[in-house]
Amino acid sequence: MSLHSSGHPLVAHKLAILRDKTTEPKKFRELVRELTWLLGYEAMADLATRPEPIETPLEPMTAARLEPRVGLILILRAGLGMVDAMLELLPTVEVWHIGLYRDERTLKPVEYYNKLPDAATVQICLILDPMLATGGSSAATVDILKEWGAARIKQVSLIAAPEGVATLSAAHPDVDIHVAALDSHLNERGYIVPGLGDAGDRQFGTFAGPASEPGHAADDETAEVVRRLQRGIGES
Ligand code: URA
Repeated sequence: MSLHSSGHPLVAHKLAILRDKTTEPKKFRELVRELTWLLGYEAMADLATRPEPIETPLEPMTAARLEPRVGLILILRAGLGMVDAMLELLPTVEVWHIGLYRDERTLKPVEYYNKLPDAATVQICLILDPMLATGGSSAATVDILKEWGAARIKQVSLIAAPEGVATLSAAHPDVDIHVAALDSHLNERGYIVPGLGDAGDRQFGTFAGPASEPGHAADDETAEVVRRLQRGIGES
């Protein structure tokens, strides 16, 4: 397993404000963007470069340019807030959208949007999804990307639950996971605790959506799925 949890004080500081329930959507979106910038920078620390001869105003030199073609794979809708920051870091990358929603009862990912072309057009894929909760959506996305032909895949999330990290790493041990924090656990509704609530709702101010509040009563089936994930961690 390759989990990188940022120990940077700036990341910790921004995450504290992001988590705070009084942080309103405008500020929340700014922080998602700033945190993604910092995590993206860390996640790309090992990208290969190739030598390229250039001339500065003073003399010729051999400089380094990024070698692999990179693609951003953003998971709708919560991943939307992460894309601008990554485009600031890598303005020429391709951006692909995958639509997956979590079935509220089974917590299983359901695919509703995928317009990837037949063959992979990039070598490295960075999956952008603020919350790595059960890991089901991430593992399903990696399945899709591997079948597509992506050579290397990294997941960039703001917060992960141990259950999500365990699920993703068991299914795809070769995927690097970059997060700002690894939290305590999932609650019976599949929310990360202490977490920050629903990352989509908090970005887009959609608090009146169906059963979106973290405190909403748990469905028996959902709670059982979470218990199974937690037993999985205990057994591993
Ligand atoms: N998705 C979220 O937005 N928040 C969680 O805590 C878990 C999944």
